[in-house]
Amino acid sequence: MQQQCTLKLLPAEAASPEKVQQYAASHFGIPVSAISGFHILKQSIDARSRQPWILLTIRVFMHEPFHERTIQQLVLRDVSKAPQKVIVVGAGPAGLFAALKLIEEGIQPIVLERGKDVRARRRDLALLNKEGVINPDSNYCFGEGGAGTYSDGKLYTRSNKRGDVNRILNILVQFGADEKILYDAHPHVGTNKLPQIITAIREKIIDCGGLFLFEKKVTDLIIKDNIIKGVVTASGDSFDGDAVILATGHSARDIFALLHRKKILIEAKPFALGVRIEHPQSLIDSIQYHCPTRDAFLPPASYSLVQQVNERGVFSFCMCPGGIIAPASTDAGELVVNGWSPSKRNNPYANSGMVASVEMPDIAAWIKKAGGKIPVSVQDPLSAMYFQQSVEQKAFQYGGGKFVAPAQRMADFTQQKVSTTLPDCSYLPGLQSAPLNEVLPDFIYTSLQGAFREFGKKMKGYFTNDAIVVGTESRTSSPVRIPRHPENLQHPQIARLYPCAEGAGYAGGIVSAAMDGERVVAEFVKIR
Ligand SMILES: Cc1cc2nc3c(=O)[nH]c(=O)nc-3n(C[C@H](O)[C@H](O)[C@H](O)COP(=O)(O)OP(=O)(O)OC[C@H]3O[C@@H](n4cnc5c(N)ncnc54)[C@H](O)[C@@H]3O)c2cc1C
Repeated sequence: MQQQCTLKLLPAEAASPEKVQQYAASHFGIPVSAISGFHILKQSIDARSRQPWILLTIRVFMHEPFHERTIQQLVLRDVSKAPQKVIVVGAGPAGLFAALKLIEEGIQPIVLERGKDVRARRRDLALLNKEGVINPDSNYCFGEGGAGTYSDGKLYTRSNKRGDVNRILNILVQFGADEKILYDAHPHVGTNKLPQIITAIREKIIDCGGLFLFEKKVTDLIIKDNIIKGVVTASGDSFDGDAVILATGHSARDIFALLHRKKILIEAKPFALGVRIEHPQSLIDSIQYHCPTRDAFLPPASYSLVQQVNERGVFSFCMCPGGIIAPASTDAGELVVNGWSPSKRNNPYANSGMVASVEMPDIAAWIKKAGGKIPVSVQDPLSAMYFQQSVEQKAFQYGGGKFVAPAQRMADFTQQKVSTTLPDCSYLPGLQSAPLNEVLPDFIYTSLQGAFREFGKKMKGYFTNDAIVVGTESRTSSPVRIPRHPENLQHPQIARLYPCAEGAGYAGGIVSAAMDGERVVAEFVKIR
C-alpha cells in the first residue's frame, strides 16, 4: 500500500531518511519495519518563525516492496531520413526543447547556433572575466545552451499554465539533472552542472539524426510569397526547411534589426532595468533564518522583494544565494551584469537583480528629452532596445573599461555619495566606484532609492553599506516583441515563421522558454 503525508521536521531530521521513516511510521500508527521506503513529492522551507522547519510531502510504501521513482522518458525517433525538417535558430533552452520535440514528432531539426559548444564557450568566458575581452558570438548569453548554460539554473516558474513544467523537469533529469528538481519548491541545477546536461541533449539530438551546427549566425531569412523557406548564415550558407523557429533570445539585437529592415512586424515592449545587489550571504542567512549562523542542514537563504515606489514596481529578480555576479554583455562598450551560483551555492555572497519597470511612456519621455540628439522616434519598434543599449553604454563609460563595473555601497547609493571604498565583491572583472545616479535614468534611480529603504524595513539589516550596488541589470526580458497569431503561433505576416520564447517576448526563464519551444512545435505539427 502507498499513502501520502506531510511532515513538519527540523532541518537535520529532514536530511535523515531514517528519521523521516520514523516520523512517517508514527504519523500512520504503524511500525517502522512496515515501511520499505518513500518518495519525496514536495519539499519546502517554512522560515517564518524563529525555528525554520522543513515541510516534506512524501509517498510512503508500507507493507509492500519499495519502487524507485519513475522518470518519464522521451521516446525519440530516428529522424535522419525524415521527410520534413524544421530550422531552429538558436540553441538556448527554447531551441533545444523545440529540437527534442521535433524528434519526438518524427521531424528532423536543423539547429543553427551563432556561438560555440559549451566547452569552447567556457574559454571565451574566462577571457571575458580575466582580460575583459568579449566575443560577440560567444559569451554569457550566446553559445550552446544559450543564456541558460552559464545561468544559475533556477527552474522555478510561475508560467504553469503555459505548458507542462513537470515534463520539462523530467526531461532535464533524463539528461542528467538531480532528481531533487522534481520535488524541491525552488528547484536549482547550478552553473557547474548545466553544461553536462546541455551537452547530453545535443548528443541525443545528433544521435537521432538531427543536425546541430555551431558558429552559424543567421543573418537573413528566405521568404517567398509571405511563406518562410529557409535562412542564410553569416558564412554564406543557406538552409531550407518546412518551418523556421526563431529562438534567438533577448540579446539578439541583430535579429530584431534584421526583421525591422525586412519590414517584418515587430513591436517595442516594456521591460525592467536596474542594478545587481550583493550582500554577504551570512547576513542574508541571519536575516531570513533569524539566527546569527545558519543551521548546517539549511541551504543558503534567498529572498524575494517587491515594492511600489511612485506607482512603479521595483522587484528583486533572479536571486542567487551563494552566487557570483557575472558580466553578461554581448558587445564591446556595453556593461550588463547578471548572476549565477554553483549547485552547492557555497560562495560567500548573495546577489540579486533589483529592477524597476520601464514602460513605453518612459521611452517616449527619454526620446523627447534628448531633443533630436538620438535618431529614434517613439514609433520605432526598436526604441526600447535603443534605450536599454544607451544605459548599458553609459554604465560601460562609468566603469573602468574592460567590463570593470560601476558600483556603489547601498546607503551611499541612496544618498548620491560616491563610495570612498568598496567591499569585496564576487564580480571577477572588478569594480569602479561611480555615481550610479548618473548612470541610471532618473526614474529608475529614484525608484530604486525609495525601494532600498523600504526593503530595509521588510528585511531588517538588508539596507546596509556592507551591500554593494553594481550597474547594470538590463537584460531582464526582451525590449521587443515579435508578434505571433494567438492560435497558430506563426508570425501574422510570414507563414511558418514561429517567433519563440524569451527573445520574441513569450517567455522569461529557462523552464518557460523550454515550454514555449515545445508549444511552437506542437502548433507546427497540427499543420504539417
Ligand atoms: C547569467 C544568467 C543567469 C540566469 N539565471 C537564470 C536562472 O537561474 N533561471 C532561469 O530560469 N533563467 C535564468 N536566466 C535567464 C535564462 O537563461 C533565459 O531566460 C533563457 O535562457 C531564455 O531562453 P531562450 O531559449 O529563449 O533564449 P537564449 O537562452 O537567450 O538562447 C538564444 C540562443 O540563440 C542564439 N542566437 C542568437 N542570435 C542568433 C543568430 N542570429 N543565429 C543563430 N543563433 C543565434 C544565441 O547564441 C543563444 O544560444 C539567466 C540568464 C543569465 C544570462
